[in-house]
Amino acid sequence: MARNTGSVCKYCRREKLKLFLKGDRCFTEKCSVDRRPYPPGEHGQRRIKFSSYGVQLREKQKVKRIYGFMEKQFRNTFDRAAHMKGVTGENLLLLLERRLDNMVFRMGFARTRREARQLVRHGHFRVNDRKASIPSHTLKIGDEVSIRERSRKMALFADSLEATERRGVPAWIELDGKEMKAKLSAFPTREDITMPIQEQMIVELYSK
Ligand code: SF4
Repeated sequence: MARNTGSVCKYCRREKLKLFLKGDRCFTEKCSVDRRPYPPGEHGQRRIKFSSYGVQLREKQKVKRIYGFMEKQFRNTFDRAAHMKGVTGENLLLLLERRLDNMVFRMGFARTRREARQLVRHGHFRVNDRKASIPSHTLKIGDEVSIRERSRKMALFADSLEATERRGVPAWIELDGKEMKAKLSAFPTREDITMPIQEQMIVELYSK
């Protein structure tokens, strides 16, 4: 599957917003958005007035970047959300949140979503005690994610969990850091997703 392996700070600069794609670095003075708060490129410091299409496009790109998607994969998720009951924009965000790679990040087993995706692909996790190596696997309420036995000694997990203990996990996750496992106790609601996202813009863009 195609994936983006390049530098990610340029995405934050493009949106003029911290998207928190680099873990701890995002909270330091090394953050590129703090140092250069304008889009990358030769004309980055020019004032640009976006059309309504441009605003919708930027909103979609922002959400794609936050969750680390390529266009086709993102569009497929949107189509899935559009076929669900309820509000399409909220369904989209809920589907993105329920992915295994996102949950591994939210549960504090990885510092970034990109790292979480790689760890899932490498088979370090189990869901309900069964091997799970597909990042797009959608979790249900009550599903338990654990680090497989022989991966538990990896320093990366100890570091991530230590940072998570400082930061805390969302209310809809029950984390047992000692046992290196976590349970999805409820679905996140729209209010739980605190990044400034206007999902309706994405719905309008894809409805054209
Ligand atoms: Fe974005 Fe983090 Fe890079 Fe800052 S350090 S620009 S928040 S990815």
